[in-house]
Amino acid sequence: MYSASRSRFRAVVRIFPGMKWWGWGDEGIAFTDADKPDLRPFILRHLEVDIARSGKPPLAFEELAVPAASVAPDLAEALAAALGAGHVSSEPMDRVVHARGKSLRDLVRQRRGELGRLPDVVVRPGGEAEVEAVLRAALAADAVVIPFGGGSNISGSLEAPASETRTVVSIDLGRLDRVLSIDPGARTAEVQAGAFGPALEEQLNARGWTLGHFPDSFAYSTLGGWIATRSSGMQSDKYGDIADLTRGLRVATPAGTLVIRPVPSTSTGPSVREMVLGSEGRLGIVTSATVHVHRLPAERVILGYLFPTWAASLAAMRDIAAGDASPSVTRVSDPAETQFSFATKKASSPVERLKSKALMTYLERRRGFDLEAMCLSFIGYEGSERRVRSERRRVGRIVSSHGGLCIGSSPGELYDQKKFDTPYIRDFLLDRGVLGDVSETAAPWSALGAVYDNVTGRARAVFAELGVHGYVMCHLSHSYHSGACLYFTFAITPSGKREPLDEYAVVKSAIQQEFVDSGATLSHHHAVGTEHAEWLEQDISAPGVAMVRALLDGFDPGRNLNPGKIVDALASEPVERDHEAVNLDGPSRRIVAESVNAVAAAPEPAPQPAPEPKPAPRS
Ligand SMILES: Cc1cc2nc3c(=O)[nH]c(=O)nc-3n(C[C@H](O)[C@H](O)[C@H](O)COP(=O)(O)OP(=O)(O)OC[C@H]3O[C@@H](n4cnc5c(N)ncnc54)[C@H](O)[C@@H]3O)c2cc1C
Repeated sequence: MYSASRSRFRAVVRIFPGMKWWGWGDEGIAFTDADKPDLRPFILRHLEVDIARSGKPPLAFEELAVPAASVAPDLAEALAAALGAGHVSSEPMDRVVHARGKSLRDLVRQRRGELGRLPDVVVRPGGEAEVEAVLRAALAADAVVIPFGGGSNISGSLEAPASETRTVVSIDLGRLDRVLSIDPGARTAEVQAGAFGPALEEQLNARGWTLGHFPDSFAYSTLGGWIATRSSGMQSDKYGDIADLTRGLRVATPAGTLVIRPVPSTSTGPSVREMVLGSEGRLGIVTSATVHVHRLPAERVILGYLFPTWAASLAAMRDIAAGDASPSVTRVSDPAETQFSFATKKASSPVERLKSKALMTYLERRRGFDLEAMCLSFIGYEGSERRVRSERRRVGRIVSSHGGLCIGSSPGELYDQKKFDTPYIRDFLLDRGVLGDVSETAAPWSALGAVYDNVTGRARAVFAELGVHGYVMCHLSHSYHSGACLYFTFAITPSGKREPLDEYAVVKSAIQQEFVDSGATLSHHHAVGTEHAEWLEQDISAPGVAMVRALLDGFDPGRNLNPGKIVDALASEPVERDHEAVNLDGPSRRIVAESVNAVAAAPEPAPQPAPEPKPAPRS
């Protein structure tokens, strides 16, 4: 057990993290199996790849064919005048880094040098007025504007459409990284949207507060990106998802500055706040947000537990959510992920090995565990010493009633320290030809077991159909009143008979399709982007899509703001828009409501034969 330290994040604070253009994290940081003796045999057994063999590294940056940027002189001048020439860049590295996020498709294509539609210019405004100036200049030039936070999204939320002929401006919000004010009475803080997780927490921690939002991408993602994708963090069970944490917003839009006041609740018609949440840069650029903050907890502990089966662990998580304890983390891995976690453990000392063997023997002989079916869980507690003690007791009773047991704080501490390193493993596997990715969803407690069975069953069936070696594993990562998030990780060794990305796409699509077929959502916290757009209508129904389309097209008729994301990928043909009368200085005069029909631009229906008369209804 350890107490939260105010300097917890100091080690990873960077103002502008130097993200790799081809992978996760900083150049010079990489995953290694050298200290994990069980990983090589595990991967060999399940994916038929020997990770000791050196793989295929990405191309060198110098080998990339970076196309020339196209920025009209008037726009270039206006941007330089607004920001200073030092904050306007068409450098190849800047353009490549800002072109995409970090989805598997993004990384594979980057590594191969398939760069797609790069932004022509990357700008780094230093405040809200400069963001507005960039937007004004870009709209006046009919350019495309794509807000960029940390570039960590994995849903294709950043890449400009391949067919885009207009100038593409990437607005990097990284200089807007300050906590502007804290209201201790309201327990809220106003924070600039470009603040990365570590910088944001460090500023809050220094004054005794925390936001409590810790996605696994924490080190490389920003407040604005979290808001624009409806992110969720490891401790969201206690603090809430970013959608719950966000009260007020300031957004630079084509109609002027949108201001959502940070009131605790409101009855002002459909929620504009909610419209901005998850809008992926399609309605404007979030410049700052007022978010809930909490006093740093006196105590913070993550305990490890083992359950005999997946069914028992799901039942325990459901009962914990229904009970009166409110742990900060509820996470449990299925047997496949539990085995993977054990395989990535560092080499242990002889004493640790003995202890671990004694525990396994106890579980098998005394508790009747099948070690292959066992599930590893982490449950976190935060607050005063008294509160933590009482919650541990209450949760402990539920765990025991489902046949589980606590294995102490060391596994939880290790998990807590290492969680931000785990993403590096994807690049390590890609180097060796293995494609690994994630798909996550949320479903009611009553459907969770079936969603899990359907998805894992479908993934394994697809591995067999494709003739690839594959592995699929899952954990429950966030619990709610009515259900939970299931987070699936899968990896395949491509067959060599087809394009590897095509085989990957078959697996990914099968999993996504199984989500919606099983009554679950297309994504719990990774947004829609382009990669999930195909399933939107099945998730929110056709009228739902029509509403979203009407909002986006009605508010941004020129499709200047991050076009192609969320719904556009579904449109049969592009809609011609009028760019006249851009009015950034006053009320939204140019924003006129358009009917859904106008947006969909449906062709005239062909004349139909007269319908058959309907039979009379049966009484
Ligand atoms: C290894 C890994 C682990 C991850 N773990 C998690 C996790 O635990 N939880 C989670 O929720 N997600 C996770 N993600 C996904 C990703 O980190 C989130 O989607 C995150 O919210 C994106 O933030 P960003 O700042 O990187 O945004 P970007 O990737 O830069 O942008 C994402 C979208 O938001 C828009 N946008 C960015 N900033 C603004 C702004 N200021 N105003 C308007 N629009 C804006 C962009 O235009 C784009 O459409 C993970 C991703 C990776 C690669």
